[in-house]
Amino acid sequence: MHTKNRSILLFLAAVFSSVFVLLTLSFQGYTKRYALAEADKLAHDALLTHRAIHQYINKVSRPELFRLMNEKLLYDGYFSPKTLSFTYTARGIKDFLNQERAKDNLPPVYFKLASNNPRNEINRADAQESALLKQMNTDVLNKYQEVIKDAMGQVFLYIALPTKPVKKGCLRCHGDPQDAPKEMVEKYPKANGYYEKIGDIRALISIRIPLKSYIADGQYIANIFTSITFIALLAIYVLISYFIRRLDVQQQLILKKNKKLEDISVTDFLTQTYNRMGFMRFAKQALQQAKQQQQAFSVVMFDLDLFKHVNDQYGHDVGDSVLRDFAQLLRSNLQEHMIFARIGGEEFVMAIPGATASEGMNTAEAFRLKIYKHDFPEQITLSCSFGVAELSVDEGLSELITKADHALYQAKNNGRNQVCLYTDTAKT
Ligand code: GH3
Ligand code: MG
Ligand code: MG
Repeated sequence: MHTKNRSILLFLAAVFSSVFVLLTLSFQGYTKRYALAEADKLAHDALLTHRAIHQYINKVSRPELFRLMNEKLLYDGYFSPKTLSFTYTARGIKDFLNQERAKDNLPPVYFKLASNNPRNEINRADAQESALLKQMNTDVLNKYQEVIKDAMGQVFLYIALPTKPVKKGCLRCHGDPQDAPKEMVEKYPKANGYYEKIGDIRALISIRIPLKSYIADGQYIANIFTSITFIALLAIYVLISYFIRRLDVQQQLILKKNKKLEDISVTDFLTQTYNRMGFMRFAKQALQQAKQQQQAFSVVMFDLDLFKHVNDQYGHDVGDSVLRDFAQLLRSNLQEHMIFARIGGEEFVMAIPGATASEGMNTAEAFRLKIYKHDFPEQITLSCSFGVAELSVDEGLSELITKADHALYQAKNNGRNQVCLYTDTAKT
């Protein structure tokens, strides 16, 4: 696979992994927010239930019992927390509620009216509640909320809310014991719950909601989202990588075809050597390099002698075979650095980087002899004429080819089957 495509796939894998991690983290955050919101709803519900109980005792139960007392249907000094104390009543209802919740496999809700001066010891504030009560009486603290862990490692949402400040009416039972119902003083002989002051916050409401089941619910939803996200991202990634891979195969094919076309464009169809375009391209590069390295550079032009006769005598197909065989003969005797091409019908050229004019002459002469001695198809023997030119300073490839061509012309004029070096006189 192409490195660019591999990089794209790696980059996408990194992006998708990051997106997955970020989304998973946000789903985990959601789990916590969901659990807290659900627990808060339940706490609020418990608080509303408590307020309803409070109002029922204040507005229904107490006035009814006072009416009965006023009408002497109930003895004077009657007191029973079961009917007159909303703290007592609320605790009782809460216990029944938790029993019902247990039947439905729901965890119990901890709900307590905590006081530093409780009538019943069961309502005494613990260390944290006591500290919060003090804070509620000195600072403005309307709601306290935190997530806590108990000794068993269970996690809860803990909420503390102040009850209403003590009013004058409260002092009937919470003021001087002398003003309180007789039966109550007999029931609670200790100093507990008396001598409260108007305006003080006597108690706080402590609510503890277990978070475990809500966290489990949230986790379940988050897991579903995480799985869907994973599958979706994986599917998208697989799809994209499938298309990139397909594209890559097509790109490789196009590159291969381009390379083939490029090769074709510089190759002579008949002899499979370089053509003129190939020669110009590669010889130019070699010439540039020779110039940079201050090396000599020579070009040899050569043309088969009287080739027309071959066609005339044996036909064009045999002529073609002879040309192919000629190219093969040259190729098999070339050195690595030599650039050989067919630039015309039976006209060839050779660039020899590093060769001076005399080295070029020697090479050409060696080839001339090889060709002359060679048996071409149909046992044809041929000769070839050569023109050699060496590169001068400030000269380009075209000028060099022209010079070699002049020398070749000279070789033909001098009677063929020979090597001629370009000299200024060769021009004429
Ligand atoms: P000279 O020694 O002066 O070069 O004589 P010549 O006959 O080789 O030169 P001329 O230019 O008169 O003819 C070249 C011939 O080469 C003519 C053409 O039929 C033949 N020829 C050129 N290209 C091809 C080719 O691709 N296939 C074949 N079979 N013959 C070709
Ligand atoms: Mg010829
Ligand atoms: Mg010719």
